[in-house]
Order: sequence, then C-alpha cells, then structure tokens
Amino acid sequence: MLHFLIQLSYFLAAVLFIVGLKGMSTPVTARQGIIWAGVGMLVAVFITFFHPEIHGVTNFVLIIIAIAIGGGLAWKTAQTVQMTEMPQMVALYNGMGGGSAGAIAAVYLLAAQRNLLDTGQNAIYQYMGADVAFLAVLGGLIGSVAFSGSLVAWAKLDGRMKRNSLVPQQQLVNIILFAAMVMAGIWVFMSGGVFPIFVFFALALLFGVFMAVPIGGADMPVVISLFNALTGLAVGFKGYVLGNPALIIAGTVVGAAGMLLTHLMAKAMNRPIHNVLFSGFGTTGDSGGEGPEGEMKEVGAEDAGYMLAYAESVVIVPGYGMAVAQAQHKIWELVQLLQERGVDVKFAIHPVAGRMPGHMNVLLAEAGVPYDLIFDMEEINEDFKTTDVAVVIGANDVVNPAAKNDESSPIYGMPILNVDEAENVLVIKRGRGTGFSGVENNLFFEENTRMVFGDGAKVANKMVAAVKEL
Ligand code: NDP
Repeated sequence: MLHFLIQLSYFLAAVLFIVGLKGMSTPVTARQGIIWAGVGMLVAVFITFFHPEIHGVTNFVLIIIAIAIGGGLAWKTAQTVQMTEMPQMVALYNGMGGGSAGAIAAVYLLAAQRNLLDTGQNAIYQYMGADVAFLAVLGGLIGSVAFSGSLVAWAKLDGRMKRNSLVPQQQLVNIILFAAMVMAGIWVFMSGGVFPIFVFFALALLFGVFMAVPIGGADMPVVISLFNALTGLAVGFKGYVLGNPALIIAGTVVGAAGMLLTHLMAKAMNRPIHNVLFSGFGTTGDSGGEGPEGEMKEVGAEDAGYMLAYAESVVIVPGYGMAVAQAQHKIWELVQLLQERGVDVKFAIHPVAGRMPGHMNVLLAEAGVPYDLIFDMEEINEDFKTTDVAVVIGANDVVNPAAKNDESSPIYGMPILNVDEAENVLVIKRGRGTGFSGVENNLFFEENTRMVFGDGAKVANKMVAAVKEL
C-alpha cells in the first residue's frame, strides 16, 4: 500500500511538473506555472520521507539539515538578487543540480564496489546490471561536467573570471581530457575498485572547467542553457538508477526543454551550437569589417520626447541596457502618455535581447505593460518600414544592420530587428561603447538616427517630463 501511495505521489508530481512547464511557455501564465511545478516538487520531496530506504533518525535529521541549509540560502539569495544578476544565479543553481546528480552517481558506484566484495563478482556492471551501471556512469559524467562547467559560467557572467585559456593549445588539451574521461568511465564500468571511481570523477570535474573556460562571455547564456539540459539528462539517468519515476520524468522534461531552448538561442544568433562552444566568439574584441562611415548625431532627451509626442507610430526596442538602468517603469509611463495623445505604440522584442531568453518580457511584465503591446521579431519586423520613430533603449547587437549587410562582421547572418528601416531612429545609451559582442554598430551612424546619450531611466524621465509639458 505504501509503495503504491509513493508511486502515485511521484506520478502526481510528474504531472504537476509538466503542467508547470506548459504554464511557463507564455508570460501570462508563467507565474502560475512556477507555482504548479513548485507544488510538484513539494509533493515529491514530502513523500520521499516515507520511502522505506530512508531509515534511521540520523538520516532524517541529516536530510532536514540539508534542506534547511539549501532552502535557506536559496530563499535569501532569490530575494536579494538583482534582475541583471539573474543569469549567473541560474548558472549557479543549475550547477548545484548537476552536482547533486553527480554525487548520487558517486554514492551508488561506491556502494556497488563495496558490495562487490561480498558477492564475489569483480566488475561493477555485473553487480548493478549493465544498463544501470552504464547510466550511473554516464549520469555521473554529465552531472559532474555540468557542475564544474556551470561554476565557471557563473564566475564569467559575474565578472570574476576573464581568462579564455588555462593552458597553451587549450582545445587540443580538451580533446585529450575528454578521451581520458571516457576511458576512465569505461574503467569504472568494467572494474571494481575505489581508485577508478576517484580518477573518473576528478577527470569529469576537470573537463567541465576546461570546456567552459575558452567559451566567450557573450555566449555564456547559451552554454548555461546547454548545461541545464545536461543536468536534466543526468537527473533522468539517476531516476533510472534509483528506480524513481518522478526523477526520470522531471529530468527528461528539463533535458528536452533545455535542449530546445539551446537550439532556439543558437538559431536566434544564427550560429550552430559547435560554433558557440568552440569559436571563442566575444573573446577577441574583433569588430570585423571596415568600421562604420559618418558620425553619430546627438539630440537632447527633451527634444526626443517632443519628437515622440508628435509621431503617429512608435516602436520601442528594449535591450540589456534597459535592465541595467531599470528603465522599464519610466518607459511604460512614457508610453501611457503617448497613448493618451493618440500615438500608436508597440514594443518589439528580439529573441536574445538581454542576457537570457525572455529577459525583456519579464521586465516589461513587471512594469505592467499589457502583453498585447509586446511583439516578437517575426510579428513586427515588417512594420518598421511604416514606423515614424523607432526608440532603441539599451539594445545594441540585436539592431545592428551589419548582421544583414556586412559579410565580414562576426554577427553577419544573425536575424535582427529592422530598426534601420524606420523613418527616424532614437538610440538611448550612455556612451559610444559597443554591445555584448564587441561589434561596432552601423545603425548609430545612419542618416535617420539620433543618439540620446545618458542612463536609460534618466533619459526616459526627461522624456516623460517633456511630453507632460505639452
Ligand atoms: P547589448 O549588450 O548588445 O547592448 C546593451 C547596450 O545597453 C549597450 O550598448 C550599452 O551601451 C547600453 N547600456 C548599458 N547600460 C545602460 C544604461 N544604464 N542605460 C542605457 N543604456 C545602457 O544588448 P542587446 O540586448 O542588444 O543584445 C543582447 C546580446 O546578448 C546579443 O549579443 C546576444 O547575442 C547576446 N546573448 C543573449 C542571449 C539571450 O538569451 N538573451 C544569449 C546569448 C547571448 P553603453 O555602455 O554605451 O550605455
């Protein structure tokens, strides 16, 4: 009966994970989705306390202490994290998931090799069964790589690590390390000692670091998504090893969603995933091409505000700088003032605007912008031709026309928002610096572009004041 109840609860938890994930597919239901998935997790954790394999007061106490420490830290950091620090937090939490999967594999493999002595068998795969042993080793490998790789991703995104190589001939060393790690995995599978297990996990952790270090900072969000998918996969494998259906389903769902997301992000940047992993994009500062012709023309925030007030149609393009400036509230105030004057205002979101997928949608939703004003790139790109003023706030790479017309540019081929086709373009940014990719932006030098220099929130504030004056 207890066994049935446990399995039923795991099934319920798995259903809740899937319902939650479905909810997260649109901003309107995302909050609800997170709550459903959280309830699923609670159900799964709660019922596990009744699992017959968890016996003895010490085990219960240890689990409760672990939950209190992990939960307490997560609660504290989630409350204090800035919106701009969200990607590194995702990297850190994801790394913990990978680490847990790796640790479960290590415990199982160590227990198996200890039991070998009693059974008279001499290889782990004989004791565990080839399928379980294979998935324990593979899950341990993937989980450990995702753990150490995610920590490097966190350090890079947090500005704590700038290095792009640890040794000369880094990519060659990585290939050798990869081969050594796979060989060690086979050794663990075929043998029975502690030493191979130790060597295997050490190599997997080292490989995670070596794999992530050469990847450019600009590509880190894609890599985090990939590690996230790998963590899901490792957890799914662990579910098979432990005979736990909730872990199998949750892990597979995370793995599949993560793979899809990684694919979508790579597609939005028009780069195959191997290019993201091995090209070192964004590490050289090479802007490619000859550099733009002409000069930037400046306009004051007040004049920019008047220009918007007398326009018929305005499209606002937010980017990472809007998140840095936390300008979304002022921008929404400005939009409401413009709407009162009869201006047609829309928002255009590039799939990789910001530092993680959906970054801009979350910020605009936080400020209260209705979803029907927010358009994806494919929906709105044709409209720029008939737009009076396009306002770019804190976006750079995602509006760079070099992606369309400069074959020598590193971002050539990346789909962009066709802001340059609008009749007038206003670009709000603090200075003349380049975007995340380090590539110079030709848009800023175009005849129809005016630069409004300053912090995004301060400029928006001045624009609001100017429109109110009219
Ligand atoms: P960018 O990083 O290209 O540009 C941001 C701009 O904001 C900069 O030009 C900066 O200029 C400006 N800025 C910074 N702070 C402020 C501020 N306080 N007020 C006003 N402006 C400010 O951002 P985008 O969103 O356009 O592009 C996203 C980049 O991230 C792309 O390269 C994309 O490929 C990459 N990426 C995104 C992923 C995702 O999932 N979203 C995944 C992987 C990569 P200045 O310093 O002069 O103010």
